[in-house]
Amino acid sequence: MILRLPDLIHDWLQVIDLTVTPWREAAACIDVTYQVSFFPNREDLLGVAKAKAVCATCPVSDQCLSWALESNQTEGIWGGSTPKERRTIRRRWLEEIRKAS
Ligand code: SF4
Repeated sequence: MILRLPDLIHDWLQVIDLTVTPWREAAACIDVTYQVSFFPNREDLLGVAKAKAVCATCPVSDQCLSWALESNQTEGIWGGSTPKERRTIRRRWLEEIRKAS
């Protein structure tokens, strides 16, 4: 299912607190010329690749990924990562935090 971009932005803004995510204003996915869903079905490999391609051009990809890890986003493409990839990254990230404390 391809969502219309205004719907996507609306959905996206629902999960991001604009007061704590000022980096969002520089996000590549805010560009309305992209017709990409950042919540593709898991089986939609082309959709996943399209979203990741946008993330690859994004100047705030690191901040986006950090936010997704910290807030434990379990759906969607964030910082160029799928939910499965984030689970692996997040597990390692939490281990590093545990070791450092
Ligand atoms: S990394 Fe991807 S999902 Fe995150 S802000 Fe950039 S374009 Fe959007």
